[in-house]
This record gives sequence, structure tokens and C-alpha cells, in this order.
Amino acid sequence: MGTDSRNGAEKYAWLDELNPAQRRAVTHGAGPLLIVAGAGTGKTRTLACRVAYLIARGTDPGRILLLTFTRRAAQEMLSRAAAVIERGTGATARAWGGTFHAIGNRLLRIYAKAAGLNAEFTVMDEGDAEDLLNVIRHDMGLHGREKRFPRKRTCLAVYSRCVNGVESLPEVLKRFFPWCADWEQDLKELFRRYVARKQEQNVLDYDDLLLYWMRLLGDERVARQISGRFDHVLVDEYQDTNRVQAEILRGMRRGNDNITVVGDDAQSIYSFRGATVRNMLDFPRHFPGTAIAALEQNYRSVQPILETTNRLIAQSRERYTKDLWSARPGGAKPRLVTCRDEDAQNAYVIGRVLEHYEQGIPLRRQAVLFRAAYLSATLEVELGKRNIRYQKYGGLRFLEAAHVKDLVAVLRVMENPRDRIAWFRLLQLMDGVGPATAQRVIDHVQAAGNDPRAASGFTGAPAAQDQLRAFGAMAADILAPGGLPPASQVERVRRFYAPLLKKRYENPRARERDLESLEQIAGRYRSRRKFLSDLQLDPPRSTGDLAGPPLKDEDWLVLSTIHSAKGCEWDAVFLIHASDGCLPSDMATDTPEEIEEELRLAYVAMTRAKDHLYVTWPLRYYHTWHPHTDRHSYAQPSRFLTPEVVARMEGESAGEMEREDESSGLAARRDIAAEIRSMWE
Ligand code: ATP
Ligand code: MG
Repeated sequence: MGTDSRNGAEKYAWLDELNPAQRRAVTHGAGPLLIVAGAGTGKTRTLACRVAYLIARGTDPGRILLLTFTRRAAQEMLSRAAAVIERGTGATARAWGGTFHAIGNRLLRIYAKAAGLNAEFTVMDEGDAEDLLNVIRHDMGLHGREKRFPRKRTCLAVYSRCVNGVESLPEVLKRFFPWCADWEQDLKELFRRYVARKQEQNVLDYDDLLLYWMRLLGDERVARQISGRFDHVLVDEYQDTNRVQAEILRGMRRGNDNITVVGDDAQSIYSFRGATVRNMLDFPRHFPGTAIAALEQNYRSVQPILETTNRLIAQSRERYTKDLWSARPGGAKPRLVTCRDEDAQNAYVIGRVLEHYEQGIPLRRQAVLFRAAYLSATLEVELGKRNIRYQKYGGLRFLEAAHVKDLVAVLRVMENPRDRIAWFRLLQLMDGVGPATAQRVIDHVQAAGNDPRAASGFTGAPAAQDQLRAFGAMAADILAPGGLPPASQVERVRRFYAPLLKKRYENPRARERDLESLEQIAGRYRSRRKFLSDLQLDPPRSTGDLAGPPLKDEDWLVLSTIHSAKGCEWDAVFLIHASDGCLPSDMATDTPEEIEEELRLAYVAMTRAKDHLYVTWPLRYYHTWHPHTDRHSYAQPSRFLTPEVVARMEGESAGEMEREDESSGLAARRDIAAEIRSMWE
């Protein structure tokens, strides 16, 4: 029991707050452990307590690896663990916690040589990856063919499927992208060049972080060394890992087989990224001697909510976890709210949110969830009008904003002058510089030993002469021996960038504020590399996210896609647009498997609620932007709201209903969601 002078019983008093099954899992000895359990049964809490337990028993925190779905989740779990053992966060600060991608990034820098990489590699996000594919596609002359070559986004999706699913291109095309099958040879060549370009430029895409890590572990000696760094590996949300990740975990356990994973097959919602529930089913086979623990008591939701969600998931054809029972009796039935239209839905949600707020539930403990990011657009407008603050998770991320990408591109060039995608981006901000001139500048810099400062000596772009010179001066400041701390570097780039920003974009003031926030966050870093990696790997999802922990009196409503709501919980949850076409999304109803995943999404959404759950759907959608079609069309409630589910809910309607509406609602049309989307295309 280490050097702790407290006696054992007192020291582990917190174990009494767990139920027997949780306690057994927390105190499990050595060897593999699989916890399969439904939503809200305390899987994440059990995992956090297990970390605490291991540390309390003397495991060096630096030898614990905790893999989670977001960085925030890892931080929360580690601080929870620290609180439990009452030693403050210092006790867990040294533990390795984060997403697979972030940990991959960290390990690949340490073992760069063995992985055949240069440790200065930069990471590009999905947008960059698409751009690079696009450039190559263009070079190959694939864009102007008679039959349209797949779009850049599709190309990346195909590539990513192959990598993450460890599947061959023909297989992937046949199963997931049959309409691209004719292009197999061209796609293969495209991907071949894509990989070569990335290697030349010393950049990795997200998938590479896993792929290189997996390959690195393929070498027995290296695998032993890397896995030897850790006494325990713990993984949350295991149902959403893919084959590469499963393979990585196997490689990471060469030295010992202390691994704990937790998951819920009913909440698997990332198969479009190659995640597979099979990982969970195969776990005992991959790790012989696995102990399996089940948790069946739900601590999150009141009984009536649980009865509804149990009925909902009962529709699933394949399911391993059992019905849950609630540790929280009492409570109100969930409400199913038929709204006259989207306006009525917004008014209803806002009305209820404020009502709960008056009753003492802060805004941040209430969340509005939706299937796709665009579905909250009109609600956001309404919240803005009423001065209700909100934060949105999912959808367009802060880092995807053009001006933020510009600034980051400059920093990336400073970090890795071979990063062509970043060069192209920043050079084309300058006057009269198109792709051809940019290419020549890059060649010029390369000839000068890849020194970014050399850009100022390029004479082939008269209109951009001053800008290139300003760039060179900035590079000289940033790359000077001794260097500037990351925040000062951002400040220096901002000064260089400000005139370009004003020329290029509307509303420069608001954009400058974003960049100021970026400078603020850079202030928390000592190295530019770490700052850039964190930004690329776990990008802040909003400016609010950048500002650090919120002030105590700050409060905002949470808006989130269902995917981004995973693992979270709120006192009150509003699932909006629960109409067929939106949930299930009509983009995902081609196969029974897709529809099953949509059902699990609905399940994830509804199981986020602790005390109050509202499921709302608008009866009609207006299409004023489509002058030639009828003014509105009618929706139907989600097919997942079967009579068995609805029987456990309280019905309600919002907005004045005309009689004719209700009857025409029966003859609903299914193309509504598509029409709404077309509004944004
Ligand atoms: P999800 O599947 O949604 O990720 P989960 O299984 O990870 O859920 P947790 O988030 O760990 O569940 O726990 C759900 C809620 O129940 C949390 O508020 C947690 O603090 C609480 N809880 C878990 N176990 C207990 C317990 N033994 N006693 C009291 N509360 C508990
Ligand atoms: Mg959890």
C-alpha cells in the first residue's frame, strides 16, 4: 500500500460508493477485463475509479495509459481519479490520457526513427487531406472526364475506409462505394501518389497517426519497448474503435496483458468511420483469459426515461446488453411534442429551457441534440435574438474557419518547411499569386535549403513583393535563435497577416478576435510543436472552448450533434427534429445496417437525459426558398417512435394546429430533409 500512513479501510472508503459489480471491476487484479454495459451504468466512472485504485495501490501514474474519445473526456476522468484519492490532480498529471490520435502523435515523435518518420512531421486535418487529393486528382487529369470522377470528399472517405477497416480497395468499393467501382485503377494510383506526397512533405493525416503506430508495433522489438512503458492500458467507448485501433491495442500489450476496456454495443455510432462492434465481441479471443463484467443498474436517468429508452433499443435486431433498471425512482415521463412547424419547435424548446432555468437548472446542464449540424440553424437565430448564450458542439469547428486555417498554415510552415499544403494556402493569400506562382516560390525556398526566410528573395511575383518581404521578416523573427514563445509567435503572425485578412475577408474585426483567442490559447504552451499538434488533433470546437475553463457565473445552453454528445449527460435534454428523414437521416436508410445505426443514434441521444427528456418534431416544413414548389410539406415522426415507445411517453402539441394539417400529415412526404439540406448547398 505504498507509504501512505492511512489504514487500508479508510483509504479505500470511496469504494463503498460503488455497487458490487462496479467495485469488482475497479479492484480487478492483473489481466484483461472487458466491461460490457448499457448507457449510464457508470462505465466511465468505473474506469476513472480504476485509475485511482491503481495509483492508490502504487502504480506509477506515468505508466498508465488511458484512451478516450475526446481529450476533454480524458482530462475529466483523470481529475475525477485525482479527487477520489484526494491527492489533487498532481497525482494523475503524469498519466498518459487522450484520444488514440493524440497518443499516436506523441509516441510517433518519440519513436519517429523506428517509424521511418522525421520527428518534425506536421499533422493535416481532413480539409487539408481533401485539398491534397484534389491537387493530385487535377494533376492526373481526372477532373475533366466524361463520367464524373468521385469528389475529393468521397476519395478521402474511400481511402480512410481502406485504412481504418484494414480492407483492400476492391473490397471497400464493392461494399460501400459501388458507384465508384469503375474508377478502381485511377483511385489506386491517386492513393499511391497521395501517400508519396505526404511522405515527401513530412505530413501525416489523421489516419496515418494510427496506421504508422500500428505498423510500428508490427516490429516485435519496438512493440516490446513501447508496450513496456505502460503497466496498464484502459479504454473507454470501446464499441467505437476500429480494426486498426484493436490491432494497436494488441501490439501495446506485449509485455503484460493488463488491459481494461469498457463499451456498450447499443451505442456504437461510428461505423461510417470503420468502427466495428466486432472488436468488443472478439476481445476475449484477442486477450485470452479475459474477465467479463456486466453492469445493469442505471444511475443517470429517472425510471420513466429508462422505460422509454429500453423500449426504443428493444427494436434493435442485434444486441448483447440487457434492459436496464434505474436506481432513480420517481420522475416524469418523457414528452413527445408534435410542433406545428419549426418556429413552434424553437419556441417550445426555448420556453421549456427558460422554465427549467427558472426552476434552478443552469443552462449548461440542459442540451439540445440533433442528428446533423445544420438542423440547429433556425434555433440558433432565435437564441441570438433572445440573447440566450449557447455553445455548439459538432459541425463546423473553430479550426475549420478560413482565417484560423490561414494563420495555422503560417505556423506550420515555420515548423515544417516541407509542408506544401500549408505553403500553398498562405502564398495564395498574396496579391497575384496563384497555384503556378506559389509552386515557384516553394521551389525557390526549397532550393535555399527549405528556409522559409528565403521567400523574401523571390522576384517572380511583382505584385506580392512587399508581402513576401514582410513574410521573410516575420519568419526571421520567429526562427531567430532563442526564438519566441508560441503566443508571441502567434502575435507576430497576426501582425503579418492583418493586412491580408482585411483584403480577403468580410467582417475582419470578428475574425481578428478569433485570432486573439488563438493567441490566448498558445499562451498555455511552451512549444509550437505541441501547440500545433493539439490544435490539429483535438481542435477546440468553438471560441468558447478556447477561452479555458468558464467563469463561474458564465452559463450557456449546450447545442450538440448526437455524435458529439457521446458519453455526456444533462439534467434536461431536447432531441429536436425527430422526424423521419432527419432521424433516421434519409442519407442513411439504404441498408438495414444503416438504419440500425440510426436507431442507436436515437438511443444515444435519449439516454443522455437525467431528469427531463423532450422529443420534438415539426409537423410541417416551409420552403419559401423554393418558389416553384408548394409552400410547405408534411413530416412524420421518426419510425423509431413505435407505439410501444410512444406508450411510455406523454404526448403534447406546440403551436396552433389547424385541422387540415393533422389529416394531411398522414400523407406525409419523405423528401423533406433533402429539401432542407438543399437550402444550404
Ligand atoms: P455512457 O454509456 O452514457 O457513457 P456510462 O456507463 O459511462 O454512460 P457514467 O457516465 O460513468 O456512465 O455514469 C452515469 C452517471 O451515474 C454519472 O452521473 C455517475 O456519476 C453516476 N453513477 C455511476 N455509478 C454510480 C454509483 N455507484 N452511485 C451513484 N452514482 C453513480
Ligand atoms: Mg461513459
